[in-house]
Amino acid sequence: MQTSDIVKFDREHIWHPYTSMNNPLPVYPVARAKGVRLTLEDGRELIDGMSSWWAAIHGYSHPRLVRALTQQAQTMSHVMFGGITHRPAVELARRLVDMTPAPLQRVFFSDSGSVSVEVAIKMAFQYWLSKGETGRCRLLTVRGGYHGDTFRTMSVCDPENGMHSLFAGVLAKSVFAPAPTPAFDAPWEDEHFDAFEQLVREHEAELAAVVLEPIVQGAGGMRFYSPEFLRRVREICTRTGILLIADEIATGFGRSGKLFACEHAGISPDIMCLGKALTGGTMTLAATLATDRVANGISDGELSVLMHGPTFMGNPLACAVACASLDLLVENDWAASVSAIGDQLRRELAPCADLPTVRDVRTLGAIGVVETTRPVDMAALQRFFVDRGVWVRPFGRLVYVMPPYIMKKDDLSQITSAIVDAVARPELLS
Ligand SMILES: *Cc1c(COP(=O)(O)O)cnc(C)c1O
Repeated sequence: MQTSDIVKFDREHIWHPYTSMNNPLPVYPVARAKGVRLTLEDGRELIDGMSSWWAAIHGYSHPRLVRALTQQAQTMSHVMFGGITHRPAVELARRLVDMTPAPLQRVFFSDSGSVSVEVAIKMAFQYWLSKGETGRCRLLTVRGGYHGDTFRTMSVCDPENGMHSLFAGVLAKSVFAPAPTPAFDAPWEDEHFDAFEQLVREHEAELAAVVLEPIVQGAGGMRFYSPEFLRRVREICTRTGILLIADEIATGFGRSGKLFACEHAGISPDIMCLGKALTGGTMTLAATLATDRVANGISDGELSVLMHGPTFMGNPLACAVACASLDLLVENDWAASVSAIGDQLRRELAPCADLPTVRDVRTLGAIGVVETTRPVDMAALQRFFVDRGVWVRPFGRLVYVMPPYIMKKDDLSQITSAIVDAVARPELLS
């Protein structure tokens, strides 16, 4: 197939994330990916600012990850997890139990982030059912969140920004508190927690769990909020017994400047979801971790078993490459890399703040966000970035990057200078 045939067939037959079949936006055919570079079919190279949506933290085709994957493929690519266990799953679970906050001791593996959140929610519901509390069928969350595309996860995504309002008639009704405030570094006032506290008081008897992204709200708006808000959520959950589910799928493994974003607040959730960077972007894999209280609570009930079991649960290839990725994370001093990238993003994106087209510029960990005053023209902006040799994928009013931790200074500068030039052009906004 010629490159043009690939693109043509794609246009006519393949859905991409959040796209129309009738009027698809352009897609760029990638032939190879190595280090921080994507190589297009026509030979052009793009420096990747997105880490393939938070995942490729060590860059692409890292030799250690490739070796872990190929060695595992020669031994055993997959085996069912029902009635069987294997070394890659056990070694990965041991690493996760060791590196996450101490109370998280029980691990459930699944194939994607959305499913790991579904499993977390199911754990919470089963926990209360086991206690005979059949009225706890609702979830409390905050506006501006994103937790996945399956139906129950959609029900805790931001109710307004985009796609999910469409499904109002078929979605479970969650309880929504305002988006968490204040911003990450802003001073705390007790009033910031009033609305949340009020909703807990109103709905306490029907709430199974609070679901939220700790500190960084990702796809729902790229906002960074105060650790004190999260501490208060932990306190009120502890006081009422309502379970706290922390969705660390985007933030996990160092991205926010801490290994897990919960650490900014010094708290531990009852249930934690991990995905995205877990395998360094090599394979799809997710995990839901729970405390003994949650696990024992479920098992003490009439049902006694956790009612979930994906076909590809604990896939050995994914587990083996995740182990290698977590080893690399530790060996490569992720904290120093994340902090250096963060400093550079803060410095080099700062000029955007003076532009009339820009509403806000913010950074945390190795995440940089430029919020524009008007929504971007996605296709035009994408073309602009590709012409500048970088891969940045904006949405709505957000031009944001979370580069691989291995990115060198000059490569990152090429990305930031393209962003500064792009957001200055009113014609690239809609
Ligand atoms: C990406 C993401 C998910 C969904 O993960 P998928 O692997 O896309 O299903 C859930 N929660 C958060 C915070 C995410 O960033």
